[in-house]
Amino acid sequence: MNAKKKFDHSNDLVLLPLGGTGEIGMNCYCYGVGPADDRQWLMVDLGVKFGEATDPGIDVVLPDVSFIAGDRRNLVGLVLTHAHEDHLGAVAWLWPQLRCPVYCTPFAAQILNLKLKEAGLDEEVEVHVLAQGSRFSLGPFDLEFVAVTHSIPEPTALLIETRQGKVLHSGDWKIDRTPVLGVGMDEKRLRDIGEAGLDVLVCDSTNVLREGHSPSEADVAATIMDIVRQAPARVAITTFASHVDRISSAVKAARATGREVVIAGRAMRNTIEAARVCGYLREAGEFLDEEEFGYLPPDKILLLCTGSQGEPRAAIARIAEDQHPHISLEPGDLVIFSSKTIPGNEKEVSRIHNNLARLDIDIVTSDEALVHTSGHPRQEELRTLYDWLRPRVLVPMHGEPRHLRAQAKFAASCGIAETLIPRDGHIAKLCPGPARIVDETHAGRLHVDGRLIVPAEDGPAKQRRKLSFVGIVLVSIALDDKQQLAGEIKLITDGLPAGLDDELLDAADQALSSTPKPRRKDDEQVAEAIRTAIRRAADTIWGKKPVVKVAVLRV
Ligand SMILES: [Zn+2]
Ligand SMILES: [Zn+2]
Repeated sequence: MNAKKKFDHSNDLVLLPLGGTGEIGMNCYCYGVGPADDRQWLMVDLGVKFGEATDPGIDVVLPDVSFIAGDRRNLVGLVLTHAHEDHLGAVAWLWPQLRCPVYCTPFAAQILNLKLKEAGLDEEVEVHVLAQGSRFSLGPFDLEFVAVTHSIPEPTALLIETRQGKVLHSGDWKIDRTPVLGVGMDEKRLRDIGEAGLDVLVCDSTNVLREGHSPSEADVAATIMDIVRQAPARVAITTFASHVDRISSAVKAARATGREVVIAGRAMRNTIEAARVCGYLREAGEFLDEEEFGYLPPDKILLLCTGSQGEPRAAIARIAEDQHPHISLEPGDLVIFSSKTIPGNEKEVSRIHNNLARLDIDIVTSDEALVHTSGHPRQEELRTLYDWLRPRVLVPMHGEPRHLRAQAKFAASCGIAETLIPRDGHIAKLCPGPARIVDETHAGRLHVDGRLIVPAEDGPAKQRRKLSFVGIVLVSIALDDKQQLAGEIKLITDGLPAGLDDELLDAADQALSSTPKPRRKDDEQVAEAIRTAIRRAADTIWGKKPVVKVAVLRV
């Protein structure tokens, strides 16, 4: 047997995560079948991750799908497991690179279509709408949307059957036996899949660090009902704009206590419209627009609004600053934060809490009462799913490295024989066993910067970060054909302490004087001498080196 034959993986089913194994967000998992240089690919989810404070001006981060885009004739389709941003938010940005058909449930299709319309792509993208429970085939992949429970309508796990083996891609899920909306988790089907023999479970890791079982949406609904019943004046509830179950629970509490429902925030209005098109919230009655808030008696209002993560332009942030054009709260009113603060957003959220405290408004958060539950499985839920499915291999996904590792260890402790932790860019052979990493490809990140997509590494955010620490000095210098100064050196600074200009100018002057005339013929050398001198002078006085840009003009 020659070496080539030995490493021939033509019969493998592989998994290539391009996002989601190493971070929570920008989920994008590619399953491949066929010879290594000519695989057919199925993409599962294409989501965003929100930008971090360390990347100024970057609100959205995308996975780099150039590896698959470069081989797009072999991409049989993109399947979306549910409508959360971290699973479908990147489609409108990246579909032009992929140009493949898209498959999702009705609610996800509604949310996706809004995004495609905004991007002017709604006529171009072929979206196939399939109900939970549907079976369909794409190339070598036989697929099934298996209903699970989560925190958005119509969440699905994806059963992927190939000649090489069977994988269940869990999507985002929890075990909620009393969901507020939807068909619930298809426990019977999941048990049947386990009974028939499952090779690999690729599984949500988000809450693996938490013991026990997460509370049900029904428990949260009951808590919200109690709080609203006891509230003497206005009640505002802020939650994730996409959380239709929670919106439904809030509306039920309003109806039970004779309150009108006012909706504030475009994202929430969009979700409600999408939900109604798909048959949800039909019994919820009419909702009022924010303009009508001021005409209602305090004990007749329930306000539902966006901004639970502290987004500064969202409704609750503006209400807390008393800057909302139509809505203001008063002492005695109550705001329920029916959400969890996503790590990284703590400062923004506590700013809102403080602003509300200044207005003498009471707040309830999930620290004080069961006004929120996660949509992801804790340890006992994971254990239950493992019991139903009894997979040969567990591959953790949807997690930071610590979550992935923790789920691999937990699965091993539950008796799953094999675990494998691939990272973004790894090509992991799943079937036939044993599972292992067989190759690696490029998997990076892209930044959405305004209307443009730019590289994350060495893109504009990197330079902005630098500027945010040290400011900038702009120098312009004009030299005549004898390499003499024609006029004075001009210097503009931004983001530097005041009073440095004269010394920096002197440094520039001296740098030029000590540059011999023959060397002054080279713009680069002149610029570099001045740049170095100014940075050194700033360091001596200030202890920091600014960014320096020098323009050399020839007159
Ligand atoms: Zn989700
Ligand atoms: Zn997710």
